[in-house]
Amino acid sequence: MSRCYNFSAGPANLPLSVLEQAQRDLVDFRGTGMSVMEMSHRGKNYTEIHQNAQENLRTLMNIPENYRILFVQGGASSQFAAVPLNLFTERKKADYVNTGAWSKKAIAEASRYGAVNVVASSEDTTFNYIPKLPATIFSPDADYVHITSNNTIYGTCYPGLPEVGNTPLVCDMSSDILSKPYEVSKFAVIYAGAQKNIGPAGLTIVIVREDMIGRALDITPTMFNYRTYADNNSLFNTPPCFIIYMAGLVFQWMLDNGGLEAMAARNRDKASLLYQYLDQSELFTATVSGDDRSIMNIPFVTGNVDLDKKFITEAENNNFKTLKGHRSVGGMRASIYNAFPREGVEQLVQFMEDFEHRNLP
Ligand SMILES: *Cc1c(COP(=O)(O)O)cnc(C)c1O
Repeated sequence: MSRCYNFSAGPANLPLSVLEQAQRDLVDFRGTGMSVMEMSHRGKNYTEIHQNAQENLRTLMNIPENYRILFVQGGASSQFAAVPLNLFTERKKADYVNTGAWSKKAIAEASRYGAVNVVASSEDTTFNYIPKLPATIFSPDADYVHITSNNTIYGTCYPGLPEVGNTPLVCDMSSDILSKPYEVSKFAVIYAGAQKNIGPAGLTIVIVREDMIGRALDITPTMFNYRTYADNNSLFNTPPCFIIYMAGLVFQWMLDNGGLEAMAARNRDKASLLYQYLDQSELFTATVSGDDRSIMNIPFVTGNVDLDKKFITEAENNNFKTLKGHRSVGGMRASIYNAFPREGVEQLVQFMEDFEHRNLP
């Protein structure tokens, strides 16, 4: 068996022990004679998987009692519509912060259902920072404020949460959920596609405060209504059973490895290893500076498109895979989610040092 260092932004690498556990369970889940993929979602075995995954996520994130955990499908992209459909109930007005391609998609989708006020944007400089958000820029009568906590493509992350008063705060946390502790009670809705820090693609987690449930617009499709999931324990229809099982294994792996404080310490350490190298390198530069730097996605460039290409090719040949940056930013991007090993970052830095020596003019 040979495993590479996989810097994919998503679907991203999973803990090896989780993959191996899934492999052991694959054809015969704990003596049942069937795979998790083959069993009824109403049966005793799956029910236990479903409940454990929820409970472990609640423990990990310290989710208060008055929040519900929903297992939905359709990706974070479906939540771009589900959020306004469920929350545009008072004035059909919402404030959005535009910090990148995902925010823009969320804005476009919400604009179909109500008035979207873009209160701040960092588009002027290819989204390489998080705009300052003084409390006064938010509308006092918005139904909610929407932010994207970590911007996967550009490598920015909120250094702190904006002060939005009593307005419900909604967060697309797809690429930094579970990377560090967040105080869930500061949010009305948190949503995240699974394929970055949670498990394989195909599951979307929604964590919603109870008072946000049951107010959806009449036109809301049943499968987009938070109440459908809350009233049926996310079993109104067939859930993505196998993905929930995989997410459950990842949650257990996080609990066994010290929970989110420990994840955060390891993630900061891994990220600072790479940033420290980038900050003193004469060849490579990080595209984001200061407090807004993500510890999950780290874009960098040489400033020379041909040299970037050469670097990516050589990296691939040396087992460092998927380092190509998003097409809108160019250059390189190292996504180093929870499951990415420190050793992989150490080896990447060594490889970059060597590449730098060989390629400095
Ligand atoms: C990946 C990503 C998305 C899109 O998620 P899908 O599950 O593919 O719809 C949305 N927002 C952010 C911040 C992401 O990183």
